Amino acid sequence: MSNHGASGCGRFDFIVVGAGVVGCAVARKLTLEGARVLVLEKATDILDGASKGNSALLHTGFDAPPGSIEQGCLADGYREFLSIRERLSLPLLACGALVVAWSNAEAAKLDAIVDTARANGVDDARIIDAAEVRRREPAIGDGVTGAVLVPGESVIDPWTTPYAYLLQAVLNGARVERGCELLRGEYDGVSWRLGTTRGDFEGACVVNCAGLYGDAVNRMLIGTPLFEIRPRKGEFVVFDKSAARLANAILLPVPSERTKGVVVCRTIFGNLLVGPTAVEQPSRDDASVDERVLEGLVRHGARILPALANHPVTATYAGLRPATEEKDYRLHVQPDPPYVSVGGIRSTGLSAALGIANLVAREVAGIVAGGDRPAAIEWPEMRSLSAYGERDWQRPGNGGIVCHCELVTRREIDDALDGLLPARSLGGLKRRTRATMGRCQGFYCSARLAQIAANRFDEPMATELSE
Ligand SMILES: Cc1cc2nc3c(=O)[nH]c(=O)nc-3n(C[C@H](O)[C@H](O)[C@H](O)COP(=O)(O)OP(=O)(O)OC[C@H]3O[C@@H](n4cnc5c(N)ncnc54)[C@H](O)[C@@H]3O)c2cc1C
Repeated sequence: MSNHGASGCGRFDFIVVGAGVVGCAVARKLTLEGARVLVLEKATDILDGASKGNSALLHTGFDAPPGSIEQGCLADGYREFLSIRERLSLPLLACGALVVAWSNAEAAKLDAIVDTARANGVDDARIIDAAEVRRREPAIGDGVTGAVLVPGESVIDPWTTPYAYLLQAVLNGARVERGCELLRGEYDGVSWRLGTTRGDFEGACVVNCAGLYGDAVNRMLIGTPLFEIRPRKGEFVVFDKSAARLANAILLPVPSERTKGVVVCRTIFGNLLVGPTAVEQPSRDDASVDERVLEGLVRHGARILPALANHPVTATYAGLRPATEEKDYRLHVQPDPPYVSVGGIRSTGLSAALGIANLVAREVAGIVAGGDRPAAIEWPEMRSLSAYGERDWQRPGNGGIVCHCELVTRREIDDALDGLLPARSLGGLKRRTRATMGRCQGFYCSARLAQIAANRFDEPMATELSE
């Protein structure tokens, strides 16, 4: 095992464990505050845990429990995303959401949903009647009894967004170690010394953002798990792009205590999504899909939008929520030894990440002496993969199209394989470009991609394709 870590790069102010959306946002914030930040990620590439498979909704927090940590982080994260997204060229589909009631009993719950939204500062949420729902959503099925309209709910890019956060951290001096699993750590009274699969690293404070392994990392470093991760699987079906015109807003059910329920919405990439389910399971890694569950989702989608029955399914996937025995986020901050744990970021982390990062930065201010904020902040410019804006294939000099289903250009592939945080796996390349994620699922472009990406990945592409 090499020991290049501590010896090669000195002492960091913060060592962030995990490069999911939360770790990416936390690393960005602490770096922009002037700290020396190191991110450790055990997977070959970033965003390979819970952040790999979500619904990609930017939540206002209208339905979060008022006064919860989650609600505070959602409100702040939502605000900040809107304030920085244009600087980072991050796309947004501002389509609004409808919480649709399908019975009188559900309609009776709409007032309470609006009350909660108002308590959370989402003042523009309002009830609309069935006729108004139908006017807004001509393809919706029979039986609607009313809805709550939440204009601020939106759809974003689930991967370019956190990738931009981490890229900005790196541009401004943060270091990221991928394929670098934290194995042990101790505090000597002055510094943490963390042992990883890529050597030892030294830092003043650890920020645990390990998602589905948050409790395990707490146990490893501070001797107590603080909470118990109870992975909750959510399966999805992705319909062909032809189906996207069937929905305008994000169509939500009236939620239950346990889950927001199955959503029908467009994706930023121009598809239509139905999901997720919510089933607790012991495995923290098993994101397999079940054919019967998927069939159920297809039937569910066709009840909400009957014409969906005529559209093919392009892809299926599942994500695992890092849920715990409690509903709220689990934040733990201690001064001695300096340590922060941000866990249980269950089902809203994509939206709340920037708010979580602000909260962490405020909490650590009294624990670790801060550095000087950089005189000038660097901003990476991301390539938008949105189907609702201009794409690279429409611009000159793009080197031609490699993935024809998703219209991914040679220039986009080359960029994803180069730069400060190049793709290290086929999964990483897919998330950066969408190559292989379209109708043919890589049947036509995989051979060419393998040629272009030869020797760039830790595992040969053929191995990943056969998994
Ligand atoms: C089905 C589903 C739907 C969702 N829909 C939405 C939505 O529409 N909107 C929204 O805002 N949110 C949504 N979410 C929630 C969001 O995806 C999660 O809140 C978020 O991904 C959690 O991110 P994280 O960074 O905490 O965890 P993760 O993404 O799991 O990141 C943790 C990282 O830590 C790494 N790690 C773990 N242990 C170690 C170790 N020992 N050493 C080094 N690295 C380690 C892991 O490899 C991983 O990459 C959804 C989630 C799911 C599953």
